[in-house]
Amino acid sequence: MKTTNLGYPRIGSKRELKKALEQYWSGNTTIEALLDTAKAIRKENWLLQKEQGIDLIPSNDFSLYDQVLDLSTTLGCIPERYQALANNPSFSSYDLYFAMARGIQKDGIDITAMEMTKWFDTNYHYIVPEFTKEQVFKVSAGKIINEYKEALSLDIKTKPVLIGPVSFLLLGKEKEDGFHRIDLLERLLPAYENILQQLSDIEAEYVQFDEPYLALDLSEKEQRAIHQTYANFVSKFPNLKITVANYFDCFGANIDTALALPVHTLHLDLVRCPLQLDDILESNKLNSYTHLSLGVVDGRNVWKNNFEESLKLIQKAVDHLGGDRILIAPSCSLLHSPCDLDLETKEENLSGEIKQWLAFAKQKLEEVATLKSLANKENLSENLEKLRKNSEVHAYKKTAGLIHNQKVKQRVSSLTQKDDQRKSPFPVRQRLQKEALDLPLFPTTTIGSFPQTKEVRSWRANFKKGNLSAEEYNTLLEKETQETIEFQERTGLDVLVHGEFERNDMVEYFGEQLNGFAFTSFGWVQSYGSRCVKPPIIYGDVSREAPMTVKWSAFAQSLTKKPVKGMLTGPVTILQWSFVRNDQPRSETCTQIALAIRDEVVDLEKAGLKVIQIDEPAIREGLPLRKEDWNTYLDWAIKAFRISASGVNDETQIHTHMCYSEFNDIISNIADMDADVITIECSRSQMELLDVFATFKYPNEIGPGVYDIHSPRVPERAEMVALMEKAAKQIPTEQLWINPDCGLKTRHWPETREALIEMVAAARECREKK
Ligand code: GLN
Ligand code: ZN
Repeated sequence: MKTTNLGYPRIGSKRELKKALEQYWSGNTTIEALLDTAKAIRKENWLLQKEQGIDLIPSNDFSLYDQVLDLSTTLGCIPERYQALANNPSFSSYDLYFAMARGIQKDGIDITAMEMTKWFDTNYHYIVPEFTKEQVFKVSAGKIINEYKEALSLDIKTKPVLIGPVSFLLLGKEKEDGFHRIDLLERLLPAYENILQQLSDIEAEYVQFDEPYLALDLSEKEQRAIHQTYANFVSKFPNLKITVANYFDCFGANIDTALALPVHTLHLDLVRCPLQLDDILESNKLNSYTHLSLGVVDGRNVWKNNFEESLKLIQKAVDHLGGDRILIAPSCSLLHSPCDLDLETKEENLSGEIKQWLAFAKQKLEEVATLKSLANKENLSENLEKLRKNSEVHAYKKTAGLIHNQKVKQRVSSLTQKDDQRKSPFPVRQRLQKEALDLPLFPTTTIGSFPQTKEVRSWRANFKKGNLSAEEYNTLLEKETQETIEFQERTGLDVLVHGEFERNDMVEYFGEQLNGFAFTSFGWVQSYGSRCVKPPIIYGDVSREAPMTVKWSAFAQSLTKKPVKGMLTGPVTILQWSFVRNDQPRSETCTQIALAIRDEVVDLEKAGLKVIQIDEPAIREGLPLRKEDWNTYLDWAIKAFRISASGVNDETQIHTHMCYSEFNDIISNIADMDADVITIECSRSQMELLDVFATFKYPNEIGPGVYDIHSPRVPERAEMVALMEKAAKQIPTEQLWINPDCGLKTRHWPETREALIEMVAAARECREKK
């Protein structure tokens, strides 16, 4: 039996890579300094994995920006628009690489970045490969070979990791018509073979190919492509021990394809899909020589492994195949885990009691090694003690007072249908709200946040450091809020917002005030490039201790006669952007959050707020990988939103906001949310994405964003009027609102002022034209 790892976080346990990248990008350091940091991180990671007892340690899992972009450059997939850069001797290969990742504007050169999108159902974003019909692949495998040699000099024979050819093609995008990217396989395989040849020349023994598309439903052609690829590799490189890794879900309908692969090892995600092990073992379809890599340690969440449960799975596999054909592994690359729990020393952030339930990347490796020796019955006395302790921790977890709150559980179980329904149907509410709010046609509003200026952020930092008293901090925020209300009144907006200056982040702000949430000091996870997020950890039943936002919303409302919109983050988004407990279904945790938000909504209403927005930008990203699982998710997710929104009277207007507008396949679920008003991103698609609302005859009100907030550009009035005229052709005017695409927190004040003045003027023009 062996231990293996699929990939290790590369950002550095204290985000050393992030800092080095940003220094380099800002021109403060040389490329050598950046490369030194990168090398030091690799070394530390390799040695750490060795020390933790990992037999097959990955290489080429490191990246300066993104592993998919690395492979694009390795295979010579450089889009045409970068060729000038590639051929220009004054730009290095690193300049080219970062230009592809981030775009470049320098010395008269102006090239946009490649597109970025989410890596399956994680919060990691990769750079989308671009393919042309006559795509030529040209290998430069320096990174792969050098990293292998670098580890070898530390006396570690690594297992190079590559994204498999089929997944690489499917991750990309056709940049011209007339072909499907999977048709490029014939051209692509020789390039991969070239890399395998180079690896075998330096006597690499193992290679791991990630083919996470096996967790999605592949067409027959794609299944054949998988088979052809690996049959080909194995026959040409019989000495390489090839692993095909699948993760994030089971093989599903691809199972026969996967089991027929003549490869050395198949990796399974047994955290997402423990039941597939039985299917595989009982099918007897596995080749007699194929090993199974059992992904029993969760690579995507922060919880300590349950050894008893993992050992049951391992034992079953050993009984069928024998220990020699088994590897123990994390479920997927540890890229998605924070680095090291040992760094968490601040008891006030993460108490010892909570820490006993957690494991980050480094600890997960130790778990993998312990599981192997437990399964092998090595070091019996020491290991049995570890097993006993582990069982104790998990037994205690079942009743721990810190986790379990009977009141919350009872409240969830006593929910009835009327709790997720507004008192009256929308047409009745709409009439009552019209009377209560007295808004013009094409009412104007914003999405919530106003610029989080350097000053605002420095106040928060100084308050946290103790350099500002609570009173001083409050006074500054009050002043900023007041000025923002005054600006909105002056400008003539119809529904005002307080500006969200008191908030750091739209989830953290709520998590910090809710029971059941904990925060780490160093629990960073790479989101893309140098960007990291530090998701809260939901460890226990969620409840609200006291009102969370009422003070600021009520304060803002006290300054104006115009309606102020209360601002909340919705239950699905809070869930989606956190590490979620795994001892109960996600739906249960989501419902608990929904009830906490519901209480806040009711309190805002009591405090005199007539409009309340519950943001749900993450509903879409919560969709499961396989379509057949969508409905189950959407049922509980939409219901959670409705629970949060349904405690108020008909006169109170509930808004929701989403930062996108691809609703084609979920429009009926979005309509089911029954928000009185939904604001969405629309300007970049020139309102085209509104089509689906029109076709569906979406019954409630909509604010299709009229300008893009991602750029400082001030939109022209005529542009916005034209967009609204387009919208009005699709949606009855009585249903339309005018607002920007999203919150304004990343913008500066000058362009914000100008843009909103123009937007209000555009609304007036629309009204006059009616
Ligand atoms: N109310 C939030 C804001 O304006 C919404 C942000 C979001 O949807 N991502 O900042
Ligand atoms: Zn948004």
